Amino acid sequence: MAYVIASGCIDVKDGACVKCCPVDCIYEGVRTLYIHPDECISCGICVSVCPTEAIHDEAELPPAQAVFAAVNREFFARHVSGVGSPGGADYVGPQACDHPVVEAYPVRSEP
Ligand code: SF4
Ligand code: SF4
Repeated sequence: MAYVIASGCIDVKDGACVKCCPVDCIYEGVRTLYIHPDECISCGICVSVCPTEAIHDEAELPPAQAVFAAVNREFFARHVSGVGSPGGADYVGPQACDHPVVEAYPVRSEP
């Protein structure tokens, strides 16, 4: 079971997790990042570096964040980014879109 980026990353996106992921399976959208569910090896390394505690094992997602399992998965589908499964975020670079749930998320105000 893969890890999932939940709402804590939206409008934060500092990229700390990307730097430590050994398989480059964390992809960039406009307002947040997404973990590829088929490419993540569930090592858990990214969890400890996230400043907003946004990353969860899919099996342990807080109930209020449950939708983000589908958000991370569907981001790669043809009807959202169309990225598919390229085998690494570096192959495709940042995407100019987000999942509709993220697009509709209230803009995070400055701290
Ligand atoms: S759990 Fe491991 S493989 Fe999966 S996104 Fe995090 S660092 Fe990458
Ligand atoms: S470390 Fe956390 S806040 Fe930073 S980009 Fe990754 S998921 Fe987003």
